[in-house]
Amino acid sequence: MSIPITKPFFGPEELRAVQIPLESGWVVQGPFVREFEQRFGAFTGATHAAATSSCTTALHLAVAALGLAAGDEVVVPAFTWVATANVVEYMSARPVFADIRLETFNVDPDAVARAITGKTRGIIPVHLFGLCADMPALGSIARAHSLWVVEDAACSFGGWTNGKHSGTFGDAGCFSFHPRKSITTGEGGMVTTSRRDLHEKICSLRDHGATKTDRERHEQAGAFLLASYPHLGYNYRLTDIQGALGCAQMARAQTLLDGRARVARAYAERLSGLDWLALPATPVGDRHGWQSYVCLFRPDPPSLNNVARLHAKRNALMLRLEAQGIATRQGTHAPVMQDFYARKYQIKPEDFPNAYLADRLTLSLPLFPQMTDGEIDAVVSALARAIDHG
Ligand SMILES: *Cc1c(COP(=O)(O)O)cnc(C)c1O
Repeated sequence: MSIPITKPFFGPEELRAVQIPLESGWVVQGPFVREFEQRFGAFTGATHAAATSSCTTALHLAVAALGLAAGDEVVVPAFTWVATANVVEYMSARPVFADIRLETFNVDPDAVARAITGKTRGIIPVHLFGLCADMPALGSIARAHSLWVVEDAACSFGGWTNGKHSGTFGDAGCFSFHPRKSITTGEGGMVTTSRRDLHEKICSLRDHGATKTDRERHEQAGAFLLASYPHLGYNYRLTDIQGALGCAQMARAQTLLDGRARVARAYAERLSGLDWLALPATPVGDRHGWQSYVCLFRPDPPSLNNVARLHAKRNALMLRLEAQGIATRQGTHAPVMQDFYARKYQIKPEDFPNAYLADRLTLSLPLFPQMTDGEIDAVVSALARAIDHG
């Protein structure tokens, strides 16, 4: 048996969807991207949605549109995909890291408050693995210091807290449609916002800073004249082929999310007896998006003293699972431990102990909506066996 970490869900609807732009010949950002944005906005409750080529470019556009500049600081979690910090670097600004809470893997609001200086302009909380960060606490910190908030909602499609979808709390929310996420367009992203000014700026910046889109130009008389380009923009557009794929994925979005939740429930029930594995919990009032099912490997209470030993033990376990055809992954990484950041800002892993422990000890299990009971059985029993030989 071979069980991958994830598997995109595509059916005849997706196959048909991508053919339509090929038949019409309109393949750059156009009517399908527009429809995808509308469907995404309706699903999440966001006022505006702008599709982009990835979540990384979505985040870059959001911070650029908010006017982030050289010398500014932005508070970001110490445990997240490196792109969260990279977009701050793209603007010649400084990412200031804040440690996470091990129970949720999300940024600790107290650490965020401590990281704020006179140069801080914003906060980029991450809703890691589909679980919302503590938005009430982060929102009040942001208000108290007049900071903007850009939510890195790359993994939190289908993640809700207090009745609101992730990505609709801050000034902007940025989503990913990479195949590791819950719906996919191959590569792709989305910026949601309730601010019209921000939406218009983002739409212009994703298209070289243009005053109107190619489609608008082609539909009007005078198509021979180019738009004007008053801003320094980028080419971060999603293609209409991907837009069509996104529409087909949105049409089955709730089914895909329900399928993911079904697997997560089965894991929660059947792995609760393993005392060496801390399972992900969902706080009251939250709905988890289950982009990933990420556990913490803790045969002993983890600390900076035993992390090296536990890390070796976790890797041995992952190797045994791999030998049986079961793919696992570390949850994500700690940017503070990547060379670029460690060297540039003289960071030691011990400066962010929880991010360090999470980087070394997380264990992400296979999770995809079409996973069968037999496949779930195989993962559960392989996990139980794997530790015995450890
Ligand atoms: C996946 C991910 C990204 C990057 O998304 P892309 O669409 O691949 O650019 C950014 N932040 C987090 C937290 C992610 O998980």
